[in-house]
Parts: sequence; structure tokens; C-alpha cells
Amino acid sequence: MYNSNMSKLKIAELFYSIQGEGRYMGVPSVFLRTFGCNFKCAGFGMPRGELSTEVETIAFAHDNTPYKDYKDLPLVSTGCDSYASWDPRFKDLSPMLTTDAIVERIMEILPHGEWRDEHLVITGGEPLLGWQRAYPDLLDHPKMQGLKEITFETNGTQKLTPEFKQYLENWKLKDNKSWCESITFSISAKLPCSGEKWEDAICPSIVREYEDVGYAYLKFVIATEQDFADAECAIAAFRKADFEGHIFLMPVGGVESVYSLNNRAVADIAMKHGLRYSDRLQVPLFKNEWGT
Ligand code: SF4
Repeated sequence: MYNSNMSKLKIAELFYSIQGEGRYMGVPSVFLRTFGCNFKCAGFGMPRGELSTEVETIAFAHDNTPYKDYKDLPLVSTGCDSYASWDPRFKDLSPMLTTDAIVERIMEILPHGEWRDEHLVITGGEPLLGWQRAYPDLLDHPKMQGLKEITFETNGTQKLTPEFKQYLENWKLKDNKSWCESITFSISAKLPCSGEKWEDAICPSIVREYEDVGYAYLKFVIATEQDFADAECAIAAFRKADFEGHIFLMPVGGVESVYSLNNRAVADIAMKHGLRYSDRLQVPLFKNEWGT
């Protein structure tokens, strides 16, 4: 039942685009990017063992002359390409919105003012951090009843709370949704090239549990053969915990200059090992601008 005591979510971005990655590549989608992450991933695009300082430079500039809008923030070629969705120095750019306000905005950006074939991507940051308690209010809103498919884009480190797990169980049974189509977990488990520690980032038992309530797949960001060797170790750990989902390899690169250097090489590695390749359509199509 819809709770009129609306929850609030801190929203970094809310936009309509085409899903560029993973299972739903090419599907028209509403992206709800929540604020906050438990990682920094400053190692992306850097020599092994080194961390990017690009965000420090942007934060310094923001301190002196604040950016007014998300869209004005510079894109980065190293580190996390969604830094403003978790770095506290940019938190003022992400408003706290009621679920009612979020739903009204979603209705404005959907092409027909209602859910049809579009799917909802709840992303971050890390969307399963503290916001699990607020999603039921959002999804139970009367105007969200036409929604049939949701993807949670997660780093795979956050356990589902028993309450939210139960809620998702019930949600996917409503309106005779097919369980395998209705809820997806796109898990981008972080390898050492992210700069995060293995023991913090590779959490097989947590990821295995996502399969209890939906279809889950792993997506590894790869730049080198060494990254692939790390991915193989991670895959072995996930399989040992009985994770059954598909495995995608995806090239590193939030900007075209980096992405185009290694997309073909990653596709070749995926083919060689019989794994799935995920592109990053948002890079060649939209240059990975904010809001795409
Ligand atoms: S987990 Fe994702 S959002 Fe969080 S820092 Fe890493 S790449 Fe960025």
C-alpha cells in the first residue's frame, strides 16, 4: 500500500536515456542516481598501485568558484567517472527529494508521461547503501504501477535487508511479472585496478543472495591482461559461493579517448574466454556527458 508519509532520497541525477551497458543495452531507461558510495575507485585508468588526483583538482576549483549545476562539472579520464554522486564536497549539487517529487519528475521525462516499455535503473554511487528503506515508497506510488523492470546497478558489497528482500519478492509477484525479467542486479564488482581492496570489494556471499530475488550478473571493468587475470580469480570466488549469473567484461573508459583505446582488446578477451562483452554505448553515442 502507498505510504503517504513520503520517504526522501538524495538524488545526484535523474534523467532519461538509453541504457549503454550490460543486459539492457539499448533499452530506453530512466536513471535514478542516488547519492553516496562506500568506495572511491581512484585507481581506474592509473598505473597499478597509483591513485588519481583528478577529483581533488575539481573539488579545489569547486571550493573557490562553486559549480552551480551537475552538467557544468568536468568529466574525468581517471578515477570514478561518477565522482559527484558520492564525494561529500559536491553534496550540495544533489537535492534531497520526496518520493512524490521524484515520481513527478519521472512522469515529465518519460516520452508518454507514463511507464510503457521503459525500464528503471537505480544507480549511484552505491544505491543499496542506505536507501533500501526508501525504495518501497517510491515503487508503491500509484504512478509507478506501470513499471515492469528495474535494474539495481551495484558494486555488490551491500547486503539486502530482510525487509527490502521481502518487499522485492512481493513486488515481482504483483501483476504476474515474470521473475527473471522484473528485477535485475547489475553487479560491477571492483577489481584491484579500481584501487579498492580485494577483501572489501569481492563479496561472493552477498552477491549470491541477490539471486534469491532476481536475475544477477557480474560486470568487470577491464583494461589489461592483468585485470582479466584478477577477474578470473574473482569469478572463481563467486562461482565457489554458487553464484550462477552471467559474466560480462566491459572496457575501462568514461571518456572516448580512453574507451576507444581498449574496447576492441576487451572484446577479444571476452571472445577468447567465452564470456559476454558489454559496451559503454553512452561513450560513443553521448560522449558520456552528465545526464546520459
Ligand atoms: S563503486 Fe562505482 S560509484 Fe562508487 S566509487 Fe566505484 S565506480 Fe564510483
